[in-house]
Amino acid sequence: MGFSLRGFNDLRGQRLVRVARRLISGQIELRPEHFSLPFPFTLRKNTMADVANKYAENVAGKFYVDDQCIDCDLCRETAPANFKRNDDGGHSYVYKQPETPEEEALCKEAMEGCPVEAIGSDGA
Ligand code: SF4
Repeated sequence: MGFSLRGFNDLRGQRLVRVARRLISGQIELRPEHFSLPFPFTLRKNTMADVANKYAENVAGKFYVDDQCIDCDLCRETAPANFKRNDDGGHSYVYKQPETPEEEALCKEAMEGCPVEAIGSDGA
């Protein structure tokens, strides 16, 4: 996973070297529109997960996923016993609340690693 530079992807050989030199010397300026991210990136006013916006399929309990999930897969890889993918909706949800200290720690790790803070731990 990474970002790409629009318009720069097809550069090869000497042309790439020339463009790189101009970038370094400041002759070419990179603007935000040159960058494209591999997932839809949104800036949130409130970066905390919001229990009011949690997906309905989350099981009741402390942890949940809200509607800001960008389906990056991190939580499902980190805590596969607790997070699953909704294939139709293209997002994660909590299908089992942690039942052991190990699962609790992995859910917390997933929550802290979520790039858009779509995982909350203040559910009921
Ligand atoms: S880590 Fe966050 S954004 Fe990524 S799939 Fe899980 S809830 Fe969604």
